[in-house]
Amino acid sequence: DLLSSDYYIDRKQIQMIDLLGNGQFGEVYRGILKTNQKLEVNIAIKTCKMQDATTTETFLDEAYVMQQFDHPHIIKLIGVCIEQPVLLIMELSRLGELRSYLVANRADFDLITLIIYCEQLASALAYLESKKFVHRDIAARNVLVSNHECVKLADFGLSRRLTLENSYYKASKGKLPIRWMAPESINFRRFTHLSDVWMFAVCIWEILTMGKKPFQSIPNADVIDQIEKGIRLPLPSVCCPKSLYDLMNDCWSYEPTSRPNFIEIEERLKSILKDEKMNIRL
Ligand code: ATP
Repeated sequence: DLLSSDYYIDRKQIQMIDLLGNGQFGEVYRGILKTNQKLEVNIAIKTCKMQDATTTETFLDEAYVMQQFDHPHIIKLIGVCIEQPVLLIMELSRLGELRSYLVANRADFDLITLIIYCEQLASALAYLESKKFVHRDIAARNVLVSNHECVKLADFGLSRRLTLENSYYKASKGKLPIRWMAPESINFRRFTHLSDVWMFAVCIWEILTMGKKPFQSIPNADVIDQIEKGIRLPLPSVCCPKSLYDLMNDCWSYEPTSRPNFIEIEERLKSILKDEKMNIRL
């Protein structure tokens, strides 16, 4: 778990501009990075309030993970400032969190764009699966919008690489996103590619409902009972194609091995998208 020295950035190259939001470790800022070639790059800067060794190490875990990815729909790590206060520098997504973007622009969305977002995220997740990473926190709040046609997966603070000896990840205590989680994750804290698949279908549901909260009226503690009884999130809207809701329900199979993998999900989304584009032309 080492960070390549290519990623070390001198603090003097960084200018903070304004506050974007609050992360788990500290504030996140929008800023500019001046490269050696005198180029200016828009960046997001994550800060870490606590400066003890343990917190800093956990904070930097996200950078260790992100440096291994190179995908058009995954937020790229640009670098880190390793002297205290430690900073994590990432590619900036100009339009912020997907969930708030959907809520703020409810009137302006067409179905095709929503399915394109799903397809882009499926390609990012198929890539993660090929690299043997489980994300563990797939939700619209962890997707960022770069422009109206492009979303990117972010927030790798919880993601873990699965190895041959560890074909699943056993999470320790901590706040978990219950409403998004597969039953085996809730019951046994078991996280695999197939539990990511379940979470992704909840994320599709959030996208197609334009930012509704899953199981809105049910307290966290009762969500698992509903799932055990076979209850699933409802059809997001009248415009949601049946083929897409069928795909979501396949991803919500109680038995993990009955769920499709991300390669199959990406293929099915491509075909749903093609059908929708045809419908528009007819
Ligand atoms: P949490 O675990 O609570 O989600 P976190 O530590 O993972 O927090 P983020 O959610 O990634 O922190 O970041 C906090 C906020 O900063 C986000 O809500 C988002 O609005 C903004 N943000 C983070 N990264 C970027 C980015 N690359 N581009 C634009 N905005 C960003």
